[in-house]
Amino acid sequence: MTINASGWRPEVGAGVAESAGTYTGNRALMLEEALIFEIGDGETTGVDIAAPSAVKSRLAGLERNRPIGIPGLSEPETVRHYTRLSRQNYAIDLGLFPLGSCTMKHNPRLNEKIARMKGFADIHPLAPRETVQGALAVIHELAHWLVTLTGMKAVAMSPKAGAHGELCGILAIRAALEARGDARSTILVPESAHGTNPATAAFAGYAVENIPATAEGRVDLAALTARLGPDVAGVMITNPNTCGLFERDMKALSAAVHAAGAFVYCDGANFNAIVGRVRPGDLGIDAMHINLHKTFSTPHGGGGPGSGPVVLSEALAPFAPLPYVERQGDTFLLIEEETVDERQGKAFGRMTAFHGQMGMYTRALAYILSHGADGLRQVAEDAVLNANYVLRSLDDVLDAPFGQTGPCMHEALFSDGGLAEGFTTLDIAKALIDEGYHPMTMYFPLVVHGAMLIEPTETESKATLDQFIGALRSVAMRAKQGDPLLKSAPHYAPRRRLDETLAARKPVLVWKEPEEAVAAE
Ligand SMILES: *Cc1c(COP(=O)(O)O)cnc(C)c1O
Repeated sequence: MTINASGWRPEVGAGVAESAGTYTGNRALMLEEALIFEIGDGETTGVDIAAPSAVKSRLAGLERNRPIGIPGLSEPETVRHYTRLSRQNYAIDLGLFPLGSCTMKHNPRLNEKIARMKGFADIHPLAPRETVQGALAVIHELAHWLVTLTGMKAVAMSPKAGAHGELCGILAIRAALEARGDARSTILVPESAHGTNPATAAFAGYAVENIPATAEGRVDLAALTARLGPDVAGVMITNPNTCGLFERDMKALSAAVHAAGAFVYCDGANFNAIVGRVRPGDLGIDAMHINLHKTFSTPHGGGGPGSGPVVLSEALAPFAPLPYVERQGDTFLLIEEETVDERQGKAFGRMTAFHGQMGMYTRALAYILSHGADGLRQVAEDAVLNANYVLRSLDDVLDAPFGQTGPCMHEALFSDGGLAEGFTTLDIAKALIDEGYHPMTMYFPLVVHGAMLIEPTETESKATLDQFIGALRSVAMRAKQGDPLLKSAPHYAPRRRLDETLAARKPVLVWKEPEEAVAAE
């Protein structure tokens, strides 16, 4: 395996070069990049370390006796490899990110500055409590605002993502039921639910049953009420829901669930649409996670980091997991042990080894304090206004299944109805890549055929929205007219359309060991 001075290996670049019409495969500043497994080798390292002098192994024959097969590059090759890959990423700092159900909005740089302050960024979870009073004060104050904004009794701060928060809420519900000697078996979930909801309930050991939606895209209250019974531990409802609609019957729903002795879990991932306007506690909700990385802005495009504090009602508050921060005079205490827990050991346990995601707490508190009550309310109002602007600007070219029933909340939902024969949501998504946009959420929620879910958020200007609407309108028109070029989009991206079935069914995930290494064994 030979690598020339620039790290480029002819056998890797050759095929691409042919199709791109250049020797390297690069197209001007769009730089071609092979997988690290294709350009790295088992011999090269970034740093030369002297071979270890004979050390007596204490692993009694269990030690590794052949290379682990991690491909190596020199330091400049490594830096270039990842920098080139990073240039193929789409990011909220590059353009509008229309993904629905994700709240991809601008992350104010002020938050980043605060999160990087040494006193927050450089502390250790095991540092003596008296040396990290400021950090504990931040957790305490953020907890106060989350409880205030939601009208709830308490908050468990430690869960590290929305889905982790769901698990926390469901475990609190189970602890409350067990405390009254009433173990139950089933959790009800509407069919439009985010996939994490049924996954969480199943993971916690509950049977999951679907509740249908009405033709209006909301939970069927009559069907839900009819299913309630002594086996139902709780329901998990997303509000606003994944069709981008507010569940108007929430109070009646909560009352019916409580009358049946069960609890209401709310998936609060869409809190951005109602923050400052609606307090979930007033709707009878018992537990709700808040995705700090969505509503309260933390960069989260790459799947993390996240933070999912769970606000809890009076009935569930005693069962909140440890640890939590308590203020005594001017001192902030981290309550970590059930024995000193004033709730007499009702906490169901812990969600994390330590206290949660400090970096996210500082960002969220900076965001909340810099917006203020009026600013947060405007966040929700502008997010809803922008989504309705998208909905009404496109509902003449794209089918909007619930468009007739009134305004949407934070996201606009379209279907593939009315596209030319053989044209699909996937074709539209791929053509949007050619237009320079990350595609919207597609084929979710499942209640709509060929769903396209678009959440512009409040941070996009009218000019930015108009450009996006123009691009999507143009693509939608081509899909209605059956433009054959659309079927092979994207045409201008680093990669053309992939065989998605092959990629899903036969992914190549294993580094094939160099033959020499295997032979040397
Ligand atoms: C994002 C999201 C989740 C999961 O949150 P994570 O922080 O990604 O774990 C759950 N439900 C809905 C509706 C969401 O949009």
